[in-house]
Amino acid sequence: MEKIQNFIGGKYMDPVKGQYLDNYDPGRGKVYSQIPNSTQEDLDLAVQAAEDGFRVWSKMSIDKRSRILLKLADLIEDNIKELAVAESRDNGKPYTLAISVDIPRAATNFRFYASSIVNFSSESHISEGFMVNYTRRAPIGIVGCISPWNLPLYLFSWKIAPALAMGNCVIAKPSEMTPMTAFMLGKLTKQAGMPPGVLNILHGEGSGIGQAIVESTSTKAISFTGGTATGKIVGATAAQQFKKVSLELGGKNPNLVFADCDLDEAVKMSVKSSFTNQGEICLCGSRILIESSIYDAFKKKFVEEASKLNVGDPFDEKSDLGALVSEAHLEKVQSYISLAQEEGGTVLLGGNRLPKDGFYLEPTIIEGLDQNCRTNQEEIFGPVVTLDKFSSEEEAINQANATRYGLSCTIWTNNLKKAHNVAHQIHSGIIWVNCWLLRDLRTPFGGMKDSGIGREGGNEALQFFSEPQNICIKL
Ligand code: NAD
Repeated sequence: MEKIQNFIGGKYMDPVKGQYLDNYDPGRGKVYSQIPNSTQEDLDLAVQAAEDGFRVWSKMSIDKRSRILLKLADLIEDNIKELAVAESRDNGKPYTLAISVDIPRAATNFRFYASSIVNFSSESHISEGFMVNYTRRAPIGIVGCISPWNLPLYLFSWKIAPALAMGNCVIAKPSEMTPMTAFMLGKLTKQAGMPPGVLNILHGEGSGIGQAIVESTSTKAISFTGGTATGKIVGATAAQQFKKVSLELGGKNPNLVFADCDLDEAVKMSVKSSFTNQGEICLCGSRILIESSIYDAFKKKFVEEASKLNVGDPFDEKSDLGALVSEAHLEKVQSYISLAQEEGGTVLLGGNRLPKDGFYLEPTIIEGLDQNCRTNQEEIFGPVVTLDKFSSEEEAINQANATRYGLSCTIWTNNLKKAHNVAHQIHSGIIWVNCWLLRDLRTPFGGMKDSGIGREGGNEALQFFSEPQNICIKL
């Protein structure tokens, strides 16, 4: 069985204590590899390597750093098939999605920040005849990047690319459930000419090596993406050392469908926003709120379209949905389907696990639930969506805002004024109007309320990964 290794100081290494975890192929429901369950001893090696790496990387010209990151982006594209196979096997997502979205976007992340850093400028303020202030933005040092399992290489690279571009050295931990593409990235960084110790990748459990990375006095900033409960622990731990922290957390995203929308388009995209990647995208809409006058029409078409989706082997081209990431996660999602029924909901479509090896669940649509019930309040993170009605703009806004989350929201209307008015009253970091999941990497990315603090994307991420210092000169 394949055993993957940590990547420290430019070398692949076994974990010092020789402890390993099983890694599952969710499409088959079987263990297919083993990953290091890293400990403090591995972290100590990574810190030493990163300190050495920092002396070289932080002093390297921006142009040279940028070229290395551009080369890395090219290498990801050169190895797109192998990476997409690994991503799909680790996560259970359709291979077609991994090869068309996850891996290309990982390359784009490196290319984007390789060019952003060349164009990045810091601020200066001139008080004529009195003083000049300028802000120096230096790399922070060693930073920790911790990512989840749902978009493995895409989110891993989304964190480490700006950190590296800014001149930091990184100790990164991918999810223990989807470690393979991060493991493969180590080799590519070497080929791209990245000096040893600049990117160190440790594998293992969140409560073990993840927590150790956050607790370490050597990591000066933490960029974390994952669940809200974990984010609370990470934030509290980082706060003990006044460490910079960015938290990208869970969501319970509303999808508002007004009667004046293009119904066919709203239905088509709502099917995507509900079930893409088995509903395991933090930005998936999980509460569809529909204006009463078109509720029945929307429901009929939506159920019809969703019932055409194929669930099956991630490597079968015909599969629209693959497997959920793990048996435990599948059981959690199923428990919410049972809860929804106990809470008075009616299952309009799906609800069942497929009788085959692997962790497959039908796309599931539920109606008849109050917005205050647990099914509509808690993040399920699977192919489960609820339908509900509203009868005024005010009610739509209240329902949309009625959870502790505030990550994203989708609005379907052809009335431009309404779109703006509603958008401005929704407490979400990202609002899509008549679209979903379109991303311009220059825009701030992140959530409000319990969906996190801080923003990633564009200059926000470069600023996060730098230490500003103001220098004032008297004229
Ligand atoms: P998770 O919180 O269980 O784990 C995320 C990462 O944190 C993993 O690498 C894990 O090993 C690590 N970890 C766990 N405990 C830790 C600790 N005490 N200290 C440090 N690290 C620790 O989340 P998950 O189940 O992997 O991912 C799903 C969640 O991520 C969902 O809630 C989803 O909404 C969220 N998510 C958010 C975004 C966003 O951008 N807002 C994007 C993707 C996923």
